[in-house]
Amino acid sequence: MAVNDDYAPQSPFSTGLAGRCPRCGEGRVFTGFVNVAPSCGNCGLDLKFADAGDGPAVFVMLFAGFLVVGTALFVEVKYEPPMWLHFVIFLPLTLIVCIGLLRPLKGVLIALQYRNKSGQDGPPA
Ligand SMILES: [Zn+2]
Repeated sequence: MAVNDDYAPQSPFSTGLAGRCPRCGEGRVFTGFVNVAPSCGNCGLDLKFADAGDGPAVFVMLFAGFLVVGTALFVEVKYEPPMWLHFVIFLPLTLIVCIGLLRPLKGVLIALQYRNKSGQDGPPA
């Protein structure tokens, strides 16, 4: 089993946004949309430490709320469109922003867990 020193340090943001392994930067972290793989297919890093919990959802809600509600308020004040147009525009936008950000943010938080040696089962090896 390789140790951390065998790999060049990876940016938690580039690996996390791409859904790649925080140690080697090559293997995939996710098996499904947001399901974490048991281990890296490239370097064998045990990903049991990876538990982002509700962290990604919180950041997604904060960012999506700011973006969508802010844009909806701006559009309402500036153009005063009918309410049905708000629903047609901003409900799909909400879904797109939330679903689109969830996986990359979870990847970043998992990579930051690895970088900061944080985990409920102790630091990752
Ligand atoms: Zn790896």
